[in-house]
Amino acid sequence: MEGKMFIFTAPSGAGKTTVVKHLLEKYDALDFSISATTRQKRDYEIDGKDYYFISVESFKSKIDQDQFIEWEEVYHDQYYGTLRSEVERIWALGKHIVFDIDVKGAKNIKSIYGDKCMSVFVRPPSIDILVERLTNRNTETEESLAKRIQKVKREMAEENSFDIVLVNDVLDITLLEADHIVETFLYGTNHL
Ligand code: 5GP
Repeated sequence: MEGKMFIFTAPSGAGKTTVVKHLLEKYDALDFSISATTRQKRDYEIDGKDYYFISVESFKSKIDQDQFIEWEEVYHDQYYGTLRSEVERIWALGKHIVFDIDVKGAKNIKSIYGDKCMSVFVRPPSIDILVERLTNRNTETEESLAKRIQKVKREMAEENSFDIVLVNDVLDITLLEADHIVETFLYGTNHL
């Protein structure tokens, strides 16, 4: 079966991962597209669950073998990509796919899959709030934080490229809205 797809994209720190985790816990019909990446694993992450953590060499050889639907060097020497095998794996389970990817990758996937795919741009209420969240997260060095903030500013200008903009101000409300998006796209109605 070819299922449907949800792409959640956002400037770094907008809260999209929280939204995605909530949806995956709530809906059995959804499964997460595990990207491959060459960036360092964070302590709380699990290889094969959050990402497939691979070397730059292995990533480049997968590019040569055309194993990616889309890939990107998001930061210097930090590659991220969606493997064709992920889409096949999830559809073979009879499930719908959830992507958590950056703005450029999201636009690529949307352009490939069109109407099968609902693209959602998660936006913080303001850039200032986002910079504050990103800084408080404490997962970055000063240099990588500065790079992320620059990228955030570029990405905030892109929200009109997506099907829906989900403003993440009060989290509980954001999650209800995310439920509504999923149920409407999958079942044509909101079961709440
Ligand atoms: P992080 O390092 O914070 O996990 O992710 C950095 C950025 O890369 C985030 O915006 C994340 O959504 C994005 N990303 C994760 N996986 C992929 C992917 O497969 N392709 C693309 N284009 N971006 C990805």
